[in-house]
Amino acid sequence: MAPEQKETDALVIGCQDYRDSDKILTLLTRDYGRISCIAKGAKKSKKRFVNKLEVYSFLHITFTDYPNRSLGFLNEAELHTSFIQIRNSASLYIFSSIIQEVLLQSTREREADFSLFQVSLWALHNLNEQLPPETVLTLFLLRLYDILGYRPDFSSCLQCGAKTGNNLNFHFHIQSGGIICARCNKQSSNRHLLQGTIKFLATAQNQPVEKLHRIKAEKKIIKEALHLLHHYGRNILQRDIIAWKMLKQPEKSL
Ligand SMILES: [Zn+2]
Repeated sequence: MAPEQKETDALVIGCQDYRDSDKILTLLTRDYGRISCIAKGAKKSKKRFVNKLEVYSFLHITFTDYPNRSLGFLNEAELHTSFIQIRNSASLYIFSSIIQEVLLQSTREREADFSLFQVSLWALHNLNEQLPPETVLTLFLLRLYDILGYRPDFSSCLQCGAKTGNNLNFHFHIQSGGIICARCNKQSSNRHLLQGTIKFLATAQNQPVEKLHRIKAEKKIIKEALHLLHHYGRNILQRDIIAWKMLKQPEKSL
């Protein structure tokens, strides 16, 4: 098979220096999933790559794909946007770092998934647009787990089937990704969820991505939802996401 020329849109989710003058990029692409590409001469100020190949850049790329080789060769990159607000804000950078690390840990090469690309782009775009970063991260994680096949169920009790929305209390069961009502689990030391949190998460699961930015919730609801998704994610990925530690301070007060 001959090498193939391909083009697509891509988010840079990893960037490493390689040898004297090259960079190796990890890209989340619209059409080919996660790929790695070498950018020859990228460290020297060659015009075609200058200031483009940074983490979080949103690019249009052309690359050469070689048969039986995982590393593509980056031919050209045009910058759609560099999400400048994220780079210039230390606090936004923490949130984008969590998104970046979760993406690196949860994706495999060459598994094309448009919805994954779409929600990742949505998250960086809305962080950059100054939507509350806790809300962006919460919605991103909720939708990401769904895409990965771990859609949490907020509709009814896992054990007795009691529906949410009446006056029953529920807590989230991390191992099974669903909620259990207070009648079924009287001994649980877990605090029950706010009714608003369950409603918020269930609503957000069913919105099209392009409308997610319209969903708003009180701070205490976002805080509780984010806490839940952080711990649920640790169970799904079976590892800690190191970047969460930078958010540790507010987490402690939960
Ligand atoms: Zn129950």
